[in-house]
Amino acid sequence: MTDCIFCKIANKEIGKLVYEDDTVVAFDDLNPQAPVHVLVIPKKHIARISDIRDGEDANLVGHIMVVAGKIAAERGIADDGYRVVANCNEGAGQSVWHIHFHLLGGRNLGWPPG
Ligand code: AMP
Repeated sequence: MTDCIFCKIANKEIGKLVYEDDTVVAFDDLNPQAPVHVLVIPKKHIARISDIRDGEDANLVGHIMVVAGKIAAERGIADDGYRVVANCNEGAGQSVWHIHFHLLGGRNLGWPPG
């Protein structure tokens, strides 16, 4: 999608990646909510969580979880604990229409979230 900001980041037109493989990239959030706040996204444009289909997309999301875990270990937050969260649609706080998984850690994270 030419007008999608996260597609532009995934294509390395803007921003700076902290991780890349064939299907997934990750980058630091512009407005971090914790000492570690990384967004892990598929290169494939999928607008929202509810658009994820079984099969290829489901494998992709599983892979994203593995990547998030690796980044958490690299950033030194794996043992203390971290959160991976994705917001679906406006009511849950989604503001960018390319699925992204927030990896948060480095402080105590309250539950339930707001
Ligand atoms: P959400 O509200 O769940 O859709 O999350 C969108 C996230 O993307 C927010 O945490 C924003 O701070 C972040 N964000 C928006 N634009 C950029 C950007 N250009 N680079 C990095 N993070 C961004």
